[in-house]
Amino acid sequence: MTRIIREQDDLNERQARVVAAALRAAYAWSVRQRQPDAMREIARMTGVMMEAHGPGRGPTSPMQLVEQLRRPLGTLLRFASDTDTEVTDVVLLDTNDALSDDAIGVAAEYATPLSQVFATSQWLPGWTRMRAEQLRREVFTSLIEAGDAAGYVRARRFLVEHPAGFRARLQDLLREADARLAARYRDLASDQQYPRPVGRWWWPCPRCRWPMTVRGMTVRCRYRPHGAIFHIADNSRPAAAPRLVPVRDASSMGTARKAGPAARSVEDAVCVEEEVWRSVVVPGANEVRLADELCALGAKVALWPELDSYDLDVAVGSLRMLLDVKEYTSVRRLIDDLRERPPRAQILLPRSHEHQEALLAEQSSVRVTTETKVRRAVRRAAREA
Ligand SMILES: [Zn+2]
Repeated sequence: MTRIIREQDDLNERQARVVAAALRAAYAWSVRQRQPDAMREIARMTGVMMEAHGPGRGPTSPMQLVEQLRRPLGTLLRFASDTDTEVTDVVLLDTNDALSDDAIGVAAEYATPLSQVFATSQWLPGWTRMRAEQLRREVFTSLIEAGDAAGYVRARRFLVEHPAGFRARLQDLLREADARLAARYRDLASDQQYPRPVGRWWWPCPRCRWPMTVRGMTVRCRYRPHGAIFHIADNSRPAAAPRLVPVRDASSMGTARKAGPAARSVEDAVCVEEEVWRSVVVPGANEVRLADELCALGAKVALWPELDSYDLDVAVGSLRMLLDVKEYTSVRRLIDDLRERPPRAQILLPRSHEHQEALLAEQSSVRVTTETKVRRAVRRAAREA
């Protein structure tokens, strides 16, 4: 039995290294024209691949590796028996050889320094080297080190609620929130803007408020579970703000369509870096929403207590729940992480991830609950109180 577990652990380890190396290589390939060290990085990652796959298997040259990055990740993970399709279906390089939208999502769960082997190249962004949790700790290092729990919550909540906006307005909001700025804001990237003959525009995701990506006439949040995908509706009046309409997916056919968020001018607009968005804002959007909604149901809720030992401390009447919100793309990755670092609270799966409950409960020893169940429990406790 121990031997089987050890073999599985070894397989998981190799799989994680392959995914991490694939991410770094894909990023390097996407910036090869402006980054002189990119090809060397891809060669290094080919070495990691060869080692993980064993002799005679897997890509044997940098160009072979790049070719496989244009195909589903499963191509590189044939040796792993038990992998989520959420991961194996991901293609890291899109048809233009740019990094795909899914790449940063996979990185949030799989990126590792691989630093025992290589000195980390400074030009690689943090998200290619660190998972979301490590990135988040890095953003708030000084507050964590100072043990400033209240300041930590204010600073984190500020980034979650204001991941983008107008520079001057953000200054006012920061003062009003009495929060310290834990991350830098930057100008919007070109793929976050929609140029018109007069002016340029951007749109916040209705769920996370970070600027959505514009591709042609399609506008969407790069984090798929937000389900934010729109079409630019009218192009006729060049001076008017362009309007968005939601793209219908098969499941919402025929239902009434809500309007999309209003367009904002790019002038003076800024947003947090992509890695802060993915590691702080994306999970925070659900954590803050849950805290606010449970408060509205009558509970007292503390966010990220004890400097982020877990996410929510919920109290109502005689009910007390300590909850850690997890929204992993790969439930198997979540199971591995929980085994490595047992949580200090019950795991809560938000609505978008409730389908992972059965597998998670079956394959790990942690206590699991869902958003639906927590809401029901809070409602009942509030009535009784
Ligand atoms: Zn979003």
